[in-house]
Amino acid sequence: MRKLLLALAVAGGAAWWWRRRSSSSSSAETWTASSEPATYEPPKLGGDVDPELLAILACPLDKHPVTRQGNYLVCGECLRHYPIRDGIPVMLIDEALTPEQAAAAP
Ligand SMILES: [Zn+2]
Repeated sequence: MRKLLLALAVAGGAAWWWRRRSSSSSSAETWTASSEPATYEPPKLGGDVDPELLAILACPLDKHPVTRQGNYLVCGECLRHYPIRDGIPVMLIDEALTPEQAAAAP
């Protein structure tokens, strides 16, 4: 009798698990994709930036448009160099190279 109850409990648990899995799989995948970029490797400098994105980007310091120079987006006003990492422009003043740093970089 005990074995039968145990078997029923296992079967019920499996059915519950399967229902749960099949009903929520699509939303779970979306959630995982948006919240976990899975960046185990450090991002590489450079990459392709969407031209439309490039057109709307501006320097966070003085709001001047930026132009691409190699792996950086360079502000036309303060000449700060904003790095592009894996195709994603990092428009942060803290991450940017100053004109002096950019001149010293290879
Ligand atoms: Zn600027």
